[in-house]
Amino acid sequence: MSQPVAIGMDIGGTHVRVGVFNSDGHLLGQHEASIAAIAPENGLNLIERLIQESLDSVISPSLLGIGIGCTGPLDTVHGLINNPYTLEGWNSVPIVERLSKTFKVPVRLENDADAAALGEYWQGAGREAKRLYAVTVGTGVGTSLIVDGKIYRGLDGSHPEGGHQLIDPDGPACYCGHRGCWESLISGLAISRYARGAKDNGHLLAMAEGDPNRINARLVTEAARAGDPASLAIMQKAARDFSLGIINIISFFVPDVLVLSGGVMKSADLFLPTLEQTLKTPNPMVPFDRVHILPAKLGYYAGLYGGAYMILSEAI
Ligand SMILES: [Zn+2]
Repeated sequence: MSQPVAIGMDIGGTHVRVGVFNSDGHLLGQHEASIAAIAPENGLNLIERLIQESLDSVISPSLLGIGIGCTGPLDTVHGLINNPYTLEGWNSVPIVERLSKTFKVPVRLENDADAAALGEYWQGAGREAKRLYAVTVGTGVGTSLIVDGKIYRGLDGSHPEGGHQLIDPDGPACYCGHRGCWESLISGLAISRYARGAKDNGHLLAMAEGDPNRINARLVTEAARAGDPASLAIMQKAARDFSLGIINIISFFVPDVLVLSGGVMKSADLFLPTLEQTLKTPNPMVPFDRVHILPAKLGYYAGLYGGAYMILSEAI
């Protein structure tokens, strides 16, 4: 007897991950490969091969569909990847049409932050939260709002970018054209850039064997934990800016659950006390104390779960 399965896929700037799930939401197997510097045609061939390998790894699969979370920008209405920024040459790549033709099943494409948030809603930290807001702080900052199990969409299906909320108008220039966006202040890249330019970064430079390009957020975190005053100041500023962004988000949306993931959780000891302190300030307007702030549960697999949920929530 055949078993109904869904494929969940996560396409990032460096890796593509493919998981095969049964209808109960169990991950039966997963395959991944590097996609860095791979042109679209070869990339699509690689993706098709990974899907086929995933299907071949389970007994008598009956494929219901393929759900994809992909690093944006995307055209989710027309199923196109438009992201030459992190996927070189991937301009208007019709991934939905291509995979629909090859596998003859429904294919859904969503922003990777939305897919990961759906995964956390379905099987992770925000299980069945009526209003779930997800924030991922890594190289950049991704955000997503899930309401009643559905992705909140903006005008023409656009994906709201909480990472580009303006925190400091005198802050560093952001690639979006503004200054002092949340992402430009708290992302891993932002912390690295700030530390490289800091006047008193002697300790960090010594740790990086004199090469400023080797100073990264992980090194700043390590140095801060070891008590280096310059690194502590950098992390305290990042923690304050992080808290301001979270406060804005809660003020706008008052979600039941706010899920945090990415590098920020690896430095939780440096970031979260400032947020907790800020949230303690009594506020008669917004019930900050009732918003559950939780670490994500599914890690790298959140996008795979979210992709599978896009299919299973409609198919079953
Ligand atoms: Zn920006």
